[in-house]
Amino acid sequence: MKRIPVIAGNWKMYKAKDDALAFIYAINQELPAKEVVETVICAPAIFLRDLVKREGENLGIGAQNMHYLNEGAYTGEISAPMLKSYGVKYVVIGHSERRAYYNETNETVNLKLKKAVDFKIIPIVCVGESLDIREAGTTNDFVKNQIEKAYFNISSEEALQTIVAYEPIWAIGTGKTASKEQANDTIKAIRNVLKNLYGKDVAEQVRILYGGSVKPANVDELLQQSDIDGALIGGASLDANSFISLAKAAENK
Ligand code: PEP
Repeated sequence: MKRIPVIAGNWKMYKAKDDALAFIYAINQELPAKEVVETVICAPAIFLRDLVKREGENLGIGAQNMHYLNEGAYTGEISAPMLKSYGVKYVVIGHSERRAYYNETNETVNLKLKKAVDFKIIPIVCVGESLDIREAGTTNDFVKNQIEKAYFNISSEEALQTIVAYEPIWAIGTGKTASKEQANDTIKAIRNVLKNLYGKDVAEQVRILYGGSVKPANVDELLQQSDIDGALIGGASLDANSFISLAKAAENK
């Protein structure tokens, strides 16, 4: 089963307006066709409207978070209907930084995942272990629990609309990349959890990305692995040329 690779940038809290717009102009003409590689930029909420207006036909714009309710007295939050009304196509859910600093739990990840698929926004669901868990040898159990909780009450049809990102916390923003074997083995374990939940057909269609210090110098060996369907990239997605090379690398997947 051929899965279209995904190269998704996560800008986190970086860039100001001019730089954000210049980046989109610089990459639009250079990206592979969306039938070959799905490219996504997940930007700070304030840029989303402007970026969606300027996204070329091969780029999709994503948010980095959203609330699990449609509306309410939640100062500072944004909702799925708001994202949908501006044409935002993706949303990152459960990033480890949100789990660590903003009280994101497996339960809120599940509610957000459900809300995103209800609104036909593609969730990029992040899971991944800390260094302690990796060293204790319990990574697979840990990510299994994260996936089972995230996909609680999610149907097969809904699961097919989702993307998973395996991001070991110890490899995010640290310059330490998981080895290609570590990344592929854990992603295989995640696919196996999806298989137990939804069967082989669904598990083989869901894209599972690796994230953690991916850059042009290491992306090829990661993408060559059987189960790694692309990458979620922080630091190396901030530079237009670097993002273009990452997207082009995925053309050979
Ligand atoms: C991320 O933010 O999801 C990430 C993987 O960051 P970096 O590529 O900088 O490690």
